[in-house]
Amino acid sequence: MTEPAKAKVEMEKLVSLCRRRGFIFPSSEIYGGLSSCWDYGPLGVELKRNIKDAWWRAMVQQRDDIAGLDASILMHPQVWQASGHVEGFSDPLVECKGCHLRWRSDELEGDKCPDCGGELTEPRLFNLMFKTFVGPVEDEAGVVYLRPETAQGMFVNFENVLNTTRKRLPFGIAQIGKSFRNEVTTGNFIFRSREFEQMEMEYFVKPGMDKQWFDYWVEERVNWYVSLGIKRENLKLRPHTKEELAHYARECSDINYLFPMGWAELEGIANRGDFDLVQHASSSGKGLSYYDEEAKEHIVPYIIEPSAGVDRTFLALLCDAYDEDEAEGEKRVLLHLHPDIAPIKAAVLPLSRKEPLASFAKEIYADLRPQFMVQYDDAQSIGRRYRRQDEIGTPFCVTADFESLEDKQVTIRERDSLRQIRVPIEGLEVTLRAKLSGEDLFILPEGGKIWKE
Ligand code: ATP
Repeated sequence: MTEPAKAKVEMEKLVSLCRRRGFIFPSSEIYGGLSSCWDYGPLGVELKRNIKDAWWRAMVQQRDDIAGLDASILMHPQVWQASGHVEGFSDPLVECKGCHLRWRSDELEGDKCPDCGGELTEPRLFNLMFKTFVGPVEDEAGVVYLRPETAQGMFVNFENVLNTTRKRLPFGIAQIGKSFRNEVTTGNFIFRSREFEQMEMEYFVKPGMDKQWFDYWVEERVNWYVSLGIKRENLKLRPHTKEELAHYARECSDINYLFPMGWAELEGIANRGDFDLVQHASSSGKGLSYYDEEAKEHIVPYIIEPSAGVDRTFLALLCDAYDEDEAEGEKRVLLHLHPDIAPIKAAVLPLSRKEPLASFAKEIYADLRPQFMVQYDDAQSIGRRYRRQDEIGTPFCVTADFESLEDKQVTIRERDSLRQIRVPIEGLEVTLRAKLSGEDLFILPEGGKIWKE
């Protein structure tokens, strides 16, 4: 997983920022937390939603060859037999005979317990799927699993989607949803948790075209991260060797990111061949194939799968955006988040709480709210308020001062450059929208002027 390399921010700083500002809390914190489960707070939930929206826009909304799906988390138990998960979705575990802690034997260095130095048992396979029961009786007949990936929901709905959308090859099915794995080695904050969200897409192609589409999706997916502002030099492709390929895969490449603990997987792209459709066809007795009009025959498509983690994307975006510098004579922490991803797009700040300035600023806030996620902040000095917004990645602050009451203008301050312009409040929404879409701050609307270079 790791090669020596250095990310620019330590994990502790991110954990502390997330806790302090309400991005992420430990799950069930008042009871001491639950290991490797996390709750996304008021800002975290916005950022997470923005990631999912950006993925959906790129993968579904802007393409006519991909359709969406939201399959149920609980599925027929035979799904997991056919997929190979009941048999093979396991990690090899050893237990310390002294302190009874369990370790993944493939990750251990040496043959002693890393905690107490005790002797270890022989490795035993440990299945990572969470088991539960449907119905009131807890017996073998009622066993179901919490899905460990969203992919299977798309394979078993292949025919349903094909028949209802009348798509032709190549076409894809996309889904975002929760997955569960009883991970043995956890830690590294939200990088590896037991409950997480995936953004997966299954792209069905003609056999023979699979290599071409695999390469296409690897490039597309790298470009997507770059389009969200992640630096290209912090992303690296890691093709899998023949020996490490999963049982279903013909080719696989990870997109790795330089996390604080080193290079690690952000997304996996796999050429799954016809494995999944063949398995489910033979297990269910339903023919899962596609009628090729040109060849006048039924074929079983191959599948290319880009599989990304919402939580790991969240962490990568935070790592990439984190910065410390000096602004207006003070040290500041700031997140250079892309405007599409930033939880709050603009903050409305009155210079003082005094009337009539407060009401004037609140009116601006009320006008902007239906359009963007905005915050109103009138507590403490203006400098402190700027710092608070910088720290959560808000791209713009809109400040109303006493002069605003006269000239009906406000200043817009840009997070990264600290430049400011002064613009009429009429048209503020249009101006903000243009700036959020990447227009240079100094391209001025009518009646606007540069306030601070
Ligand atoms: P790893 O080797 O790190 O355990 P994996 O190869 O098992 O990952 P996949 O099965 O390929 O992961 O899952 C696809 C994506 O889902 C991963 O790239 C990652 O972004 C996300 N993911 C998988 N497991 C977890 C987890 N336990 N916590 C958070 N995200 C996860």
